Amino acid sequence: MAKRAVFLDRDGVLNVEAGYIRRVEDLHLIPKVAQAVRKLNNLGIFCCLVSNQSGPARDYYPVSHVEALHQRLSQLLFEQAGAKLDALYYCPYLSPAAGGVNPEFTAWSSWRKPNTGMLVAAAWANDLDLKQSFMVSDKVTDVDMAHNAGLKGVLVSKNAGKPVIGGYLHRTKPDYLAKDLNEAVTWISKQIKKNLE
Ligand SMILES: [Mg+2]
Repeated sequence: MAKRAVFLDRDGVLNVEAGYIRRVEDLHLIPKVAQAVRKLNNLGIFCCLVSNQSGPARDYYPVSHVEALHQRLSQLLFEQAGAKLDALYYCPYLSPAAGGVNPEFTAWSSWRKPNTGMLVAAAWANDLDLKQSFMVSDKVTDVDMAHNAGLKGVLVSKNAGKPVIGGYLHRTKPDYLAKDLNEAVTWISKQIKKNLE
């Protein structure tokens, strides 16, 4: 039977948003994130990172640096709560129009979010049931992507629970608005329990 998954955006969901992180030691987890991922691990849910990383295409740093950042991310998750990501997908490609300059990575790619390529690739490779899966991101365009691929989309926003400023939510309707990953995971686990009843 195909597995359920939770897809996780990286910057602003797992680690503190800091633009293009040029030094590995500048990657820091958001508080309680490791515990939230551990909770998903304990529920037996496949945890999958899906991240746009255009640094290589912009010639800011090589792919090996993105890999080093992900190694630190995985290490911090493990150290802080024994948590793990089951798979990590990222898109180093960027079209010329969007600012790609390094020829090796300058291309239009179906993997670049909000295209659904990484979700589809992960589903094929890991036998995932996208219709039973969730995407958690701090970007409304990722919520659109989730809906385009048949997933539920959870938006993480520090503004959650506060009055929404006109137009802030775009036309996207997230299935749930959470203030952080911890809140998102609480909601997801409730949805899964409901589904199993
Ligand atoms: Mg983000």
